[in-house]
Amino acid sequence: MSIRKGDLVRVMSGRDREQMANKTSRVLSVNAVNMTVTVEHAHMIKRHTRANPSKNVKGGIVEKEAAIHVSNVMLVCPGCNKPTRVGHTVHMEGTHRVSTRVCKRCGVTIEK
Ligand SMILES: [Zn+2]
Repeated sequence: MSIRKGDLVRVMSGRDREQMANKTSRVLSVNAVNMTVTVEHAHMIKRHTRANPSKNVKGGIVEKEAAIHVSNVMLVCPGCNKPTRVGHTVHMEGTHRVSTRVCKRCGVTIEK
């Protein structure tokens, strides 16, 4: 997974494409098993909930972010400020292999 929680990304496809164009949003969560992410304000779905007073749940319509596949988002590079593909460089730190993400566009290291 080249996308991590807290990254700034741009949503590149789906019905939010026009709405989200030229906007960057923060990744709220990452599911490495399904290869999906939830992105702030992207792909909102309406969930209809029934009131359940014993669990203190209010009824009504709740809008929340739905998971979208990682291929539909691109990481926005903090160096060149553009959506970019992410490369990985691996180097040794003592006995540990450390994988670092780098921008394919400008080569800057993307910290997280
Ligand atoms: Zn860059």
